[in-house]
Amino acid sequence: MKTIYLDNNATTAVRPEVLEKMLPFFCERYGNPSSIHSFGGSVGAEIEEARRRCAELLGAKFRDRDNCASEIIFTSCGTESDNSAINAALKARPGRKKIVTSVVEHPAILHYCDELIRRGIEVVKVPVDERGRLDMEFLEKSVDENTALVTLMWANNETGTIFPVAEAVKIAHRAGALCHSDAVQAAGKELIDVDALDIDFLSVSGHKLHAPKGVGILFVRRSIPFDPFIWGGHQERSRRGGTENAASIIGLGEACRLAKLEREKTQVKIAALRDRLEEQIKEKIPCIRINGDLEHRLCNTSSVSFEYIEGESILMLLDMNGICASSGSACTTGSLEPSHVLRAMNVPYTAAHGTIRFSLSAANTAEEIDFTVNCLVPVIERLRQISPYWKENK
Ligand code: PLP
Repeated sequence: MKTIYLDNNATTAVRPEVLEKMLPFFCERYGNPSSIHSFGGSVGAEIEEARRRCAELLGAKFRDRDNCASEIIFTSCGTESDNSAINAALKARPGRKKIVTSVVEHPAILHYCDELIRRGIEVVKVPVDERGRLDMEFLEKSVDENTALVTLMWANNETGTIFPVAEAVKIAHRAGALCHSDAVQAAGKELIDVDALDIDFLSVSGHKLHAPKGVGILFVRRSIPFDPFIWGGHQERSRRGGTENAASIIGLGEACRLAKLEREKTQVKIAALRDRLEEQIKEKIPCIRINGDLEHRLCNTSSVSFEYIEGESILMLLDMNGICASSGSACTTGSLEPSHVLRAMNVPYTAAHGTIRFSLSAANTAEEIDFTVNCLVPVIERLRQISPYWKENK
């Protein structure tokens, strides 16, 4: 059975070009980049080339003539980048004890914030409306002279909704606070120019843009004093200890180069596939809703609620047809609860429970989309026939 992979917000396939770049760095060029000998040192040079590629995708500074440190720090994942940015902001703004974020952030932000609350930091979570749009008035009122950091995701992993990060940067800076964006889902899909934005920190994860798992980027503006999150050797100019994951960093450099080259073209292609999926679902299946800010959304993400049935049952039946997607639920203490994102958007309970996230990539085809809808129609019909809620409410 052929696999139809519509779960690219969970992770993406490593592109063959990326793998090809990585392969020599396992068994042939395995030297330690910090070594004095050229066997290791030449790997260090490849890492610097990867750093340049990553900087170019994000509009960051690589290295000036004065040979200042790059604004790109390699990390182990998006989660580490997010945690590191928050940690560095609190250190860079001593005396300020407040973080402003949103209710729909990824756990990489929210769970670290929970830990910081236990350590005495005030955390304000800005609400969103029923389309997942940020309450800008609430944000503006929340940021004050005690705020160290405003951290807001660029795009939501469940709905694809894009936040007005540029405005958030201005609001943060007006109060003397720093601004971070978790751009894990946006990098490679949206145009990011950290320099034009004047943002202070930005997180990227390799495995969401066709590089391998276990590598990430933290952009840190050069003027911001940066306190490491991971202490150790002098790697990354003493900003992140630990021997570099050379092969993965080099792969990430190639993924960033390709993303910069192809972004506009792939964005159009993927959006057309996403629209094809949604048009057919709307036409063929009653009682559905599409979640998120439909005007400001990632090209690849479609969050669809099929009312009065369980998302997990839909996923299982799709899986039997080789189709991979995600649900909008999280397993809390053994029961399936709608995710914090759908709850924050006040998606009605009966719809939130039947929510499926389809997330596409440029590798998907129109045939795959049509096949998926052809499977979905009988799956939804079958589940509704046995759903007591459907019988009561249809
Ligand atoms: N932030 C967002 C918005 C994400 O979607 C994810 C992963 O799903 C992360 C952070 C965490 O990234 P990683 O898996 O690289 O730790």
